[in-house]
Amino acid sequence: MSGGWQAALRQRLRDSRLRFDAPLRNATTLRIGGPAECLVELESEADLLALFTVVDAAHLPLFVLGKGSNVLVPDQGIRGVVIRLGRAFAAFEDDGARGGGGAGPGGGEAGSEGSLVRAGAAMANAAFIEACREHGLGGMEFLIAVPGTIGGAIAMNAGAHQGSTADHLRRVRFFERGRGIAEEPADRFEFAYRHSTLRGQLGRVTLAGAFALAPTPPAEIAARLAHFQAYRRETQPRDFPNCGSVFKNPPGHFAARLIQEAGLKGQRFGDAQVSEKHANFIVNRGAATARDVLALVDLVRRKVYSVSGIELELEVQVL
Ligand SMILES: Cc1cc2nc3c(=O)[nH]c(=O)nc-3n(C[C@H](O)[C@H](O)[C@H](O)COP(=O)(O)OP(=O)(O)OC[C@H]3O[C@@H](n4cnc5c(N)ncnc54)[C@H](O)[C@@H]3O)c2cc1C
Repeated sequence: MSGGWQAALRQRLRDSRLRFDAPLRNATTLRIGGPAECLVELESEADLLALFTVVDAAHLPLFVLGKGSNVLVPDQGIRGVVIRLGRAFAAFEDDGARGGGGAGPGGGEAGSEGSLVRAGAAMANAAFIEACREHGLGGMEFLIAVPGTIGGAIAMNAGAHQGSTADHLRRVRFFERGRGIAEEPADRFEFAYRHSTLRGQLGRVTLAGAFALAPTPPAEIAARLAHFQAYRRETQPRDFPNCGSVFKNPPGHFAARLIQEAGLKGQRFGDAQVSEKHANFIVNRGAATARDVLALVDLVRRKVYSVSGIELELEVQVL
């Protein structure tokens, strides 16, 4: 694209905020990484469509960022465009149906489970859970301890305490390259453990999801929330920035146990350290770089393999 894609973006995006050479460090929970060549805070679907026209014409790399709680941004930053969904994509709606029927805007897909709620992809998980609690709807309290957005939870099929996002997801509104904006049943997106085909890297942007939830007494919701939060406090490091579990649990094993058994708790590379509290977490003790984290990841993988014969697969997205 001649004339510069930067100028084209400035000209074509009407509602969104654009920043060039935008620091991303504080846009991730690890607090690591260089700047984005261009960071777009998207505020309308029209802008999303316009953005992809420019990005595709200029063959730019593009990454969709949620709350950055599961990503490692390289020290040199990210070339191309990083998009984050803004407030326009953070709405919450309850179809109002309760009990057996489930009819309403969601087309009755909640079935006998009760109610369908719709949440925008930019909504923080904690805000979503709070809204569900206010509406007397339960089932997804496990998300209280997953510090991301609904878009990230859908893309990653986030889960905890035997629950996963896909268990409740019924429909997804999304953008797809070459197709535009569509809404489809959730079973189209190959949900599996920490996996779906809705991730930004696959040319899709998740815009909203509709979830089936059950009417639940407030005391029951409050008890589950308190239990999950207490469990997190006891088992996870809270004193240093981190990105949650670095590795997926291999079938039949816990990554944390394998790392601990390989004698790696507390192991450091620069300011990146295998957490003393939870061995599947790497913490940033202050000035860790992405390079430090990757060196530590490499060491952990090699040592775990030599001790157990098991290859650890990354859960965190290395950009
Ligand atoms: C302390 C801590 C505890 C954690 N505990 C858990 C846990 O118990 N269970 C668990 O599953 N995870 C856990 N995580 C990891 C992380 O919180 C989840 O993966 C979360 O769902 C990521 O959401 P996010 O908005 O931060 O996404 P990001 O980290 O920003 O992105 C993650 C991936 O999702 C994609 N993505 C994000 N938004 C969109 C969108 N709108 N459209 C398309 N793709 C998108 C990104 O491109 C990227 O591939 C934890 C993290 C931390 C820091």
